[in-house]
This record gives sequence, C-alpha cells and structure tokens, in this order.
Amino acid sequence: MSSDTPVPPDRAGSWSLSDTSSRDALQLIAEGVTELAGFGVAAIRVVRDDGLEVVAVAGSDEAREQLMGTRTPTELIEAEIEHADDWGPLRFVPHDRIDLDVETWGWVPDVEPREGPDAWHPMDALLAPLYDGAGTLRGLLSIDLPVDGRRPSDAQRRLLEKYAEQASRAVLTALAREELAEQVRLSNTARTIVRRASGQPSLVRVLEECGEALVDGFRALGMWIQTFDANGTGSSSVYASDGTGVELPRELVDMADRSARRAWDDQTVYVLSKDRMTAGLRDDQVNLIFGSIAGSGVDSILFVPLGAGPDRLGNLVLTRAADGPEWTETEASAALDIGHDLGGAILNARNFEREHRLVAELRALDTYKSQLIATVSHELKNPLTAIVGHLELLESAGEVSDKTRTSLAAMERGAQRLERVVDDLLLLSKVGDPANSIIPRPVDLRSIVDDVFDLTAVAAARRNLTVRVEAPPEPVVALGDADELDRLLTNLVSNAVKYTPVDRAITVVLARKGNEIVLSCQDEGIGISDADRGNLFREFFRSSNPVAVAQPGTGLGLAIVARIVERHHGRIEVESEIGVGSTFRVFLPAAPA
Ligand code: ADP
Repeated sequence: MSSDTPVPPDRAGSWSLSDTSSRDALQLIAEGVTELAGFGVAAIRVVRDDGLEVVAVAGSDEAREQLMGTRTPTELIEAEIEHADDWGPLRFVPHDRIDLDVETWGWVPDVEPREGPDAWHPMDALLAPLYDGAGTLRGLLSIDLPVDGRRPSDAQRRLLEKYAEQASRAVLTALAREELAEQVRLSNTARTIVRRASGQPSLVRVLEECGEALVDGFRALGMWIQTFDANGTGSSSVYASDGTGVELPRELVDMADRSARRAWDDQTVYVLSKDRMTAGLRDDQVNLIFGSIAGSGVDSILFVPLGAGPDRLGNLVLTRAADGPEWTETEASAALDIGHDLGGAILNARNFEREHRLVAELRALDTYKSQLIATVSHELKNPLTAIVGHLELLESAGEVSDKTRTSLAAMERGAQRLERVVDDLLLLSKVGDPANSIIPRPVDLRSIVDDVFDLTAVAAARRNLTVRVEAPPEPVVALGDADELDRLLTNLVSNAVKYTPVDRAITVVLARKGNEIVLSCQDEGIGISDADRGNLFREFFRSSNPVAVAQPGTGLGLAIVARIVERHHGRIEVESEIGVGSTFRVFLPAAPA
C-alpha cells in the first residue's frame, strides 16, 4: 500500500509549506529514503489542523501525483499507529491488520504479493511517526515498496530510523517557521488595523481603512462587519470590505447577533465550514448560513465577536473559498485580538458620530435662535424709529404743556433704551450666527484702541476718569474682523467707564505674546462677585449689585464680546475683586509676523 496511510476522498490541496527551504529539506529526506535505503516510495506528512497533509513524495511519479497535498484525518493515523508492531521509531502494520479503507484513502501499488514469511505485501504499512518534545504527533514518514520485495532488514531499519530522526527535525523546524511567519504576518495585520482604525470619525471610515488589511492579512476571500445598534439591542448596519451592502436574511442576522454576544462573553471565535460540523451549530443553521451566501464561493468562515470591555458591539466575518487554507489557531487568536481593537475603534467612531450629531443639533438650534432674534429685532426696529421720530416732532411742536413734555421726555428715554436693546440684539444675532462666520484679516489693534479711546473720552471725562493706553510703538496685528474687534473693545471700555467710580483710572494694555495678541482692559471699579462672574457672558445678565444696576445697560454687551471672541478663535479671562477693580483679558490669534 502506498505509504500505508489513508488519503481523503477530496484533496485539501490547501496547504503546502510556504517556506521553500523547509519544503526542499523534506523532499530531500524522502528522496534519500528511496535512493539510499532501498524503497520505491517515501512520503512525508505534516500535521495541519486536524489532518496530516502530504508535503513531500519521492520515488514514484504516480504516487506523487496522487498523494501530494492530500490530507488524512489525524485520528485515523493515530489509530493505525496504535495497533502497529512497535519497532522503536518505526511502526509496522501488516496488511491483515490494516483498518483503513484503502480503496477510499490509499494508493495501492500495482504489484503482486510475494511468497514467504518476510515477503512485503502491497497492503503492508511502514510508518515513522514524528513527535515533538511534548510527545504530540507533528508529522509522519511513510515508506513503501521495498526494492527487494522483503520486509526491511535490521540494517535497513537502522538506516530508516536515521531518516526518521532527520525528518522529525525538519518537520518541527518547518512548522516552527510556518508558525513564526504566520505570527509575524498577523501581528503586522493587527498593527495596521490599530493604526488605521483608531480615530476614524465614522464606522464606514473604520471599515474603509481596515477592510483591505483584514482581507490581505487573513488571506480571506472577503469580509463583512455587522454592528449592533448603539443601545446594544438588535443589529444595525452590515458593511462589506468591497464597499457593497450585504443583504443577509433576518433570521441569519439574528443568529449572528446571538452568536456574537455569546462569543464575546466566552472570548472565543467560531470557525464554520460548509462540510464540517461546527460546535454549537445545528445542521440546519450551517445550511442557512452557507445557503444564504451560496454562489459567493465562500466555503468557510471565521466568525469573530467585536467588543470593548463589557460592551458587545457586533461581529466580523472573514470568509475563505474551498481552495483557501484552513483557519489556524494562530489566526483565530489574532482575530480575537483584532475583535478587541476594532471594537475600540467602533466605540470611538460611535462617540464621534454621536458628538457630531449633537453639535449639528446644537448648531441648528443656535441658528434658529439667531434667526428668531434677528426677525423679532427687525420687526421692532421700524416701528421704534417711527415712535422716536414722532416723539421728537411732538417735543419740537412748542405748544405742549410742561406735564406733557415730561411725559414725552420719559417716553423718549424709554424708546431710546428700547432702540439700544434692539441694536444689541441685532448685533448679537449677527455675531452669534454660525452660518455667518468672519473672514479673518490682519487688523492693527493700536488704531482700534485709539478709536475707542476717542469714542469713550467724553464719558470718561464726565466722571473724571484717567484712561491710559499701554502699547508698543509698532503695530500690534491680530487676525480678525476690524468692526467686530472695535465693538469688542468699545463694550469692555464702556463697561469699565460705567462701573468705575469718579476720579479713578482705566488702563488698556496691548501686547503680542508669541502667536497671541493680549488685549486687556483694567479698571479700578466696583468689581464683580464670584457668583456673578460665572454668568457675565450670558445674554441679558445684569448683576444684582445695586451700584451696577443703577447704570444703564442691556445685559447684552458681554454676551456680544464672548461671541466675537469665540468667532475669532480666541479666549477671554476675567479677574476681579469687589471694591478694587476688574481686568478683562482677551487673547486673539496674531497675524503672522
Ligand atoms: P450691561 O449692559 O449691563 O453693562 P454687560 O453684558 O456689558 O451688560 O455686563 C453685564 C454685567 O456685568 C453688568 O450689568 C455688570 O453688572 C457687570 N460688569 C460688566 N463689566 C463690569 C466692570 N468692568 N466692572 C464691574 N461690573 C461689570
């Protein structure tokens, strides 16, 4: 019998040592057996998953043709070794004790059995099982067709034992190399996945970035990812590596859902194969899976749960065709690790998406608010202008009594106050509208400081306030909108004037610090309480301090300041002490020097 061991009815043909030098070494050993030990055929098998695959055959082209790449279930070979005659490293199974269905599994040479007690029978089997240090079967050397037609002599046996020893070393080396190469390949894949997947803003992007690396790294035919809804119930999207949508029957999606949750809890992956029983799955389930992807060429599946910590997030499916290699232990454990990495990336992307949605919603709300304020203010503006105009007309008419004049003056003050509110509201809606951003240009803040100084000089003089400006002689250029920056400083300085008792001083300081321009407005005024400081920039906020309330104001000035600062990608700080004074410090991006 050819190399005495069974041959599976269908060729796996899927695995041969990828490392040529390992393959050549094994082939040389097989050839040594046929050329120097006096045998017609020698074959070497290597354990691969649950089978022994033929990786080298020497001596007969016919045997080579028929055996190379075939795979025999390990347990069948182990059973055969079990009841063989123990010749030390060699085992002999006489033809009448052969268990295997040779017609199905084997290759039987076309030779006539000879006569005599030591005659070699075509169905005899001579094996050298190759074990590793732990005593696990890792390969098999099988020898057949002695040239002299006899069972091996002592001398031949000793020679064969030497070859078996060599073969054993070569097989272990080949397997170790294979494993190492696989580990390197998969850890490269994992590294690529982590690098590409992390920080992607959406699930689709995560997949776009990783799909190819996954398919390549795992030598897969294709892949898809199914994610659960953000609330963890039911499944949502299915993304395929080739960008096409995957339509899976509801029943299958539900099944994948349950399996992914179980697999994540157990921290395991499942290998599903068309022809082989898969632990935990019934025949009808396997049929459902492969039936629904019939025609895709998929023959086996590596089913990987995705998650992060206790969160089960979905599953990754890697597919292989019938002629693809089988999924190895190393691949399974690498896939589980990637399930963690991808899970983290999915969680991140999901948070990104959620934040993005929230920001969009808030922005929409902001736009709506701005529009509402703008509309209402516009509607108020025209009738107000008419009221103020008519009041002036009436006042100048001459024939009104003193009492009426007092009333008219009160009405005019009210109308003016309303006008200020409306103007501030219009400005607030303008600077608060996200759809209406500024076009930043270089703005010399020194000229703005000078303008504001002139503008507030009268009010300051009325209270006998000293206004000082400290600025370098050269221009101090910020990036922004000149009108808005003018308005920002006007609001700060007029507040300083309003909220500072007579005879004191106000200082405006302008400086460039690295990439920032610092603009500060410092007063010796009434100060702001800690409680008020938290609310200063809210619309319509006015302090409860009676000294502050006594001053006219809309409560919109600082809200406008805050919006302008924000639009300029700057920031604002406030330092204050009751009765001592306040400093408002604005930081703005400087124009490139
Ligand atoms: P207002 O029109 O009331 O001045 P703002 O928004 O400009 O509105 O200011 C809000 C409140 O902050 C003021 O009412 C005042 O109580 C307080 N405030 C602002 N600037 C100063 C300052 N320089 N010193 C003391 N209090 C201030």
